[in-house]
Amino acid sequence: MNTAEKILALRTELHEHNRRYYIDDTPVISDREFDEKLAELQALEDANPALFDANSPTQRVGGAVTKNFNTITHEHRMYSLDNSYNRQDLLDWEQRMCKNLGVESLDYTCELKYDGASISLTYEGGKLVQALTRGDGFQGDEVTQNIKTIHSVPLQISASDVPQHFAIRGEIILPLAGFEQMNKQRLAQGEEPYMNPRNTASGSLKLQDSKLVAARPLDCFLYQIVTDRTLFQTQLASLQAAKRWGFYVPKHFVHAHNMQEVFAFLDHWELERSSLPYEIDGVVVKVNQLAYQEQLGYTAKSPRWAMAYKFKAEAVETQLEDLVYQVGRTGAITPVAQLKPVLLGGTIVKRASLHNADFIAELGLHLNDTVSVEKGGEIIPKITSVNHSKRLPNSQAIQYATNCPSCGTPLKRNPEEAQHYCPNAAGCLPQRVGRVAHFISRKAMDIDGLGAETIQLLIINNRINSYADLYALTEADLISLERLAEKSAQNIVQAIAASVSIPFHRVLFGLGIRYVGQTVAKKLAQHFGSIDALMQADVEALEAVDEIGTRIAQSVVAFFQDVDNLFVISQLRASGVQLEAAVSSQPTSTTLADMRFVVSGVFSQYSRDELKAAIEQHGGKISSSISKNTTYLVAGDKMGPAKKTKAESLGVRIISEQELDALISS
Ligand code: AMP
Ligand code: ZN
Repeated sequence: MNTAEKILALRTELHEHNRRYYIDDTPVISDREFDEKLAELQALEDANPALFDANSPTQRVGGAVTKNFNTITHEHRMYSLDNSYNRQDLLDWEQRMCKNLGVESLDYTCELKYDGASISLTYEGGKLVQALTRGDGFQGDEVTQNIKTIHSVPLQISASDVPQHFAIRGEIILPLAGFEQMNKQRLAQGEEPYMNPRNTASGSLKLQDSKLVAARPLDCFLYQIVTDRTLFQTQLASLQAAKRWGFYVPKHFVHAHNMQEVFAFLDHWELERSSLPYEIDGVVVKVNQLAYQEQLGYTAKSPRWAMAYKFKAEAVETQLEDLVYQVGRTGAITPVAQLKPVLLGGTIVKRASLHNADFIAELGLHLNDTVSVEKGGEIIPKITSVNHSKRLPNSQAIQYATNCPSCGTPLKRNPEEAQHYCPNAAGCLPQRVGRVAHFISRKAMDIDGLGAETIQLLIINNRINSYADLYALTEADLISLERLAEKSAQNIVQAIAASVSIPFHRVLFGLGIRYVGQTVAKKLAQHFGSIDALMQADVEALEAVDEIGTRIAQSVVAFFQDVDNLFVISQLRASGVQLEAAVSSQPTSTTLADMRFVVSGVFSQYSRDELKAAIEQHGGKISSSISKNTTYLVAGDKMGPAKKTKAESLGVRIISEQELDALISS
């Protein structure tokens, strides 16, 4: 087998394994074997850039950055659906259609109505060539690079009956488990949780950096094949074909021979919807015979042959007893409604998040209002409306807090952020406690046995000022605080001592720098190798690291500009905490010291990452964009013309990979 054949064979094999894993749920190789094969393919592709394929399985990891999404006209308009809320609506609909078609009865398909963002995928010769959002139905935004990162979207299909050109419609959704996982991470990073899976899914499609999309556990459910000529007789047959071609068509659709069977499907899912691992907001009933669909046609905004039956969100009324404000470790303030306990969807609800000041203002909430609380399949119940007829005569509109509930400092709010925060980071008790709790958490320094209450006692009694003081704690310090037995004090002191061998990237995560979660901490540790190198990095140097954007870069720089933080780091250093990565990526020479490089295009000898690593190994700095500070632009094939023009206009020298080699060995 020559290299080209080897690459093709690996791609076909990996497409197949991908399908087995993500769509059929019947994997035949281990994740590890899959990763190894993928790495093998990546290496071959890197070494043979001429054999690049935009639909290779290696393209799923993302990397493409889209600054502006192109608006493109849909080949076939994307309609919305008529809604119905009760069964009479459906019976009336059936009658209208029978009259219109001159038939006695109709059969239907029933599908779940997935709650996400609509998408239209176009395939050409079996390859995914374009993905468009619904937009206004006539035109959508092109989000192909982002969609390619979703594993359940086939990049290439090979069934024999696939048309040369077709589109397929579906919904991009975020499964509940993935959504919860994402929110856990957000909270751990001191960020506000996402409101619901649907908005998060649709927001994901418009992220500029496709790597970030790849990191989100999105799924794509397909429900309609669109072609110029009719391929199938029924919707049922077309769903089955889509499934056979390798698309993810959730298994729950049924063929209903009459309205009674449709109603049975509705009954079933009205009860069972909460057992699904993703959210639905109803059922879509479609006329099964495609010939009838064609005869029925469309109104100005929706097909006449389909009807969405929307489930009522489960809701109850209860009273808002109080509003409390929580202060997170980064100072973010979250208002929480304290409700009169009420049973909703099988659980007792006592609290609901009110998100931020704007949300409360929009509701026009008064204290003691009777409010409607909903749990539309979401995890966190939400207040959706106020029952004005039950408002008490002298009730007061809620005035959002102006000062921190804990330390009294006036709250602030950045213009682009929804949440208020307490700026008194150094003195505000819940923030201080939160930072220590984060430092010792399992994913950071993993120090067991210290609960938030004990931490608070330690701080109030001046035993510790920050997490760096933990290393000076003695058993006596701990025992002198009531409640702690000798044995537990001993265990805690031991756990603290043991934590000095926790690797650098976890220490970095534990520092609690805003926006530096586990993944970012790993990236930074890997790239800079030590806290000293990281402290030296400016915004530009930080932004040159993969996946590090301006917001993170600025936050890191600000952290190391704060004298209190510098003191804490000097204490950690004195205590022997790991502030260097085990394998340091310190430069091996200084040949390129004081030079700034931008690397762009496709190279033949090295991959882009290898080039960057080589530059850094010899003391050079990498930037993501060309400026007057750039010393060299290392240019490969397919470099964007804009970069070239910019380099020329700023007088930046453009060199090839060979010239870079020469520079290094000089
Ligand atoms: P609406 O946005 O309420 O007008 O509902 C129409 C949208 O429902 C479509 O644009 C699709 O994105 C979505 N949808 C979800 N599941 C289905 C399904 N099984 N069949 C058709 N549309 C669906
Ligand atoms: Zn405060």
